[in-house]
Amino acid sequence: MDLYHSVIARAEGLGGSSAPRRYAYDPGRAWPDSGEFELVMLRDAAYELGGGSRAGVNFTCVTTSPALVERDEILVYGPDLGELKADSDYARITILRVGDIESDDEDDTEQAFRAIQNMDFVKYRVFPRGYMIRTSSESNREQVRISKEAVRRGISFERIGDDFIRQYKQDPNVLAVKMIFLTAPDADYAGAKQCAKSAHDITMSLTKILEGMPTDCGSCSLKPICDEVEGMKELHFGKEKHTTE
Ligand code: SF4
Repeated sequence: MDLYHSVIARAEGLGGSSAPRRYAYDPGRAWPDSGEFELVMLRDAAYELGGGSRAGVNFTCVTTSPALVERDEILVYGPDLGELKADSDYARITILRVGDIESDDEDDTEQAFRAIQNMDFVKYRVFPRGYMIRTSSESNREQVRISKEAVRRGISFERIGDDFIRQYKQDPNVLAVKMIFLTAPDADYAGAKQCAKSAHDITMSLTKILEGMPTDCGSCSLKPICDEVEGMKELHFGKEKHTTE
């Protein structure tokens, strides 16, 4: 399933000039999660990621390729949470490897599709302590306020990533997760915003196809997206009988 591959290829180059720090997933190191919305008051905040006029981008892509997501891991481009001293631009990119959604087995296909539908909801189920996430699926924007207490206790992207990956892996269709955090001053945040829009468009189209939307491309509102994204029409053609004119 390579619908997102052009977005993933662009995302891999967003991090700026420095090499990333890489961490293998370790559920035992996941940052404590409060299990409910985490409120961090302004007076208790050390700084914000993506706040005000800063870039704050979040998006998720899906692939079936083990070459693109070999293992569960966390990549950090730029200063880590304990190193930042002031508000920063920020992006969080998630790449999920799932089972084959074009499998001949109807159940496999259905389950993998469901993993894609569910993936955006994970961000509403992760509540790291002292790490208040405000997110908007419409604009792909994400802002985070980090408490002074969390910084004192050693919060890091590695441990936040462990918390997210643990939640993603509750879904058995998710085989591996790569999380990329950007705070580098020379990272390409404008490019990240464009990738977020493309990923959002693809996910929306996939979801509509799964819901059994009309199958006439000529009168379909998603045609501009399907014309852009290689493999989208084939995917829909494979599921339904279509008229392409
Ligand atoms: S393949 Fe055609 S009908 Fe299906 S979503 Fe794309 S444009 Fe719409």
